[in-house]
Amino acid sequence: MATIFSKIAQGEIPSYKVAENENYYAFLDINPLAEGHTLVIPKREEDYIFDLTDDELAGMVKFAKSIAQRQKEVFGCKKVAMIVLGLEVPHAHIHLIPMNNEADVDFRKPKLQLTTEEFSVIAEKIRVE
Ligand code: AMP
Repeated sequence: MATIFSKIAQGEIPSYKVAENENYYAFLDINPLAEGHTLVIPKREEDYIFDLTDDELAGMVKFAKSIAQRQKEVFGCKKVAMIVLGLEVPHAHIHLIPMNNEADVDFRKPKLQLTTEEFSVIAEKIRVE
């Protein structure tokens, strides 16, 4: 059975798309820690990120880098954090979170409540294509 993230990459479940290529898909996290909080996934299903092949992992990080560069420009943040948890959804993903301090990447803090319109505008700002 396809994971929820596969369904997102295939367009069966809606998402706020940020970027896509043949092998990877990026979209806004629906419970963002910060404006622009993005998830990057491989289109091939694999639960644990370190079970990806070396080439898949390298390609995923390269893809994430292009988005992080864009996030930094758009949000003017100090850095973009690249975090991997994978405790909730069994489909490998990287969190890219615009950050200015440690508190911005504290997963225990309350998430931002954004409207559909706000999510759309944010995704549009980051989108490269
Ligand atoms: P984790 O697996 O611990 O890295 O957490 C999964 C992340 O995926 C959480 O930050 C969720 O907010 C996010 N998430 C779960 N379902 C969706 C969805 N349908 N669209 C966007 N983000 C999601």
